[in-house]
Amino acid sequence: MTLHHNLIAGEWVGSNGVENINPSNTNEVVGLYATASADDAKTAIAAAKAAFPAWSRSGILERHAILKKTADEILARKEELGKLLAREEGKTLPEAIGETIRSAQIFDFFAGEALRLAGEVLPSVCLNIGVEITREPIGVIGIITPWNFPIAIPAWKIAPALCYGNTVVFKPAELVPGCSWAIVDILHRAGLPKGVLNLVMGKGSVVGQAMLDSPDLAGITFTGSTGTGKRVAAASIEHNRKFQLEMGGKNPMVVLDDADLTVAVEAAANSGFFSTGQRCTASSRLIVTEGIHDKFVAALTEKLKTLVVDDALKAGTHIGPVVDERQLATDTDYIAIGKQEGAKLAFGGETIKRDNPGFYLQPTLFTEATNQMRISREEIFGPVASVIRVKDYEEALAVANDTPFGLSAGIATTSLKHATHFKRNSEAGMVMVNLPTAGVDFHVPFGGRKASSFGSREQGKYAAEFFTVVKTAYTLA
Ligand code: NDP
Repeated sequence: MTLHHNLIAGEWVGSNGVENINPSNTNEVVGLYATASADDAKTAIAAAKAAFPAWSRSGILERHAILKKTADEILARKEELGKLLAREEGKTLPEAIGETIRSAQIFDFFAGEALRLAGEVLPSVCLNIGVEITREPIGVIGIITPWNFPIAIPAWKIAPALCYGNTVVFKPAELVPGCSWAIVDILHRAGLPKGVLNLVMGKGSVVGQAMLDSPDLAGITFTGSTGTGKRVAAASIEHNRKFQLEMGGKNPMVVLDDADLTVAVEAAANSGFFSTGQRCTASSRLIVTEGIHDKFVAALTEKLKTLVVDDALKAGTHIGPVVDERQLATDTDYIAIGKQEGAKLAFGGETIKRDNPGFYLQPTLFTEATNQMRISREEIFGPVASVIRVKDYEEALAVANDTPFGLSAGIATTSLKHATHFKRNSEAGMVMVNLPTAGVDFHVPFGGRKASSFGSREQGKYAAEFFTVVKTAYTLA
């Protein structure tokens, strides 16, 4: 099997391949990917540092052309790359192709942003002086990504980093190196100069840690768990560098008595269980008022019965496998905890066998949960959601906000008054009305509050906040 190498200083290097295993069929090896060492990470950082002066002054047309070419190739190969994604992560093929298209859209958007970089010119408070405010790239950016969006998250960090003139050292999650390797290969062939983008696949504890410990990274943009995020923050403060963290969630979806039942059930089923519940924006707390509670639970349970859990590539599969054995163990541990805590298992809860060996788990719904239970407070990151019964809108809002996290929040209601109040008073970074909590646009800001996020927003033109630094220049006329 061909070894996919790391890209350091414009050369494909490395040995010691690690097998990328298909969670739908653990007998299948998706590919063999090189593992970088801590020294490789240091070499990659040095290469990115050496490439920065020239790239930071490169023409915007060059950056535009490379990002546009990348977007076009990803789009042209969406079926092939979507299949690779589905095989390495376990997302269903339609979801995986959708994520691949999203990645192309992000590169396309930032190809445009390269041409739109603007500053400001203001008069000074002193006579005959002009003030210019411009944005400059910050330097070498370390990019560390999780396994759950193997092509979209790398895209939404790499594209703005390069667009604004930074150089990059990129470490994808060890579980899903395939899509990351593919987009780095595309960017490399699209004409990036040597050292501008470096790929160091390997273990977080080795490669990621070497990046955290480097004094030469000007910024780290990280998506992953809250625990690792805290390490990124501590190391970044130590090295006086910029950092941006997107971490976990325990996203609420409020369902009010006046909700359209079909809309509420579709939104809850989608955001709680699709992509195997492995989305940071998944709704895992369904906060439902008394008047609609029983109807909602009955309708959602009926909906869950219709969802097919099977191989990610099979036509008709709604929910693919859990990503790996460790995550499956986490999910089943939390299911046991929910039962012990006194929540009622209304649906699912069991692992299932399919034609091939894989990590299959039924979508799982708890009812009679309280917001104090661990299953309501801690992120599970699997197809597991709990229904919490509340009296009225006021209690629903209080419960929705009573969480350490604050990424996304939803409400199903036909009341303009409650929808408007919820949008203003939800303590989440993103609010959805009559929509799933997961599923966002690429041209607007993405991010949360509290323990879910730290630093400026990702995506859209707001990405410039992190990937550039502002300069104020005064000139005597
Ligand atoms: P982890 O925090 O375990 O890993 C994220 C990345 O950090 C991986 O590349 C990992 O490498 C790396 N890493 C691990 N240890 C270190 C270290 N000591 N130093 C530097 N890097 C390290 O998260 P998961 O991959 O398990 O992702 C799931 C989490 O991500 C969930 O909590 C989820 O909510 C969150 N997430 C948040 C999103 C958001 O935007 N808010 C979006 C998507 C996911 P390795 O692969 O080798 O472990």
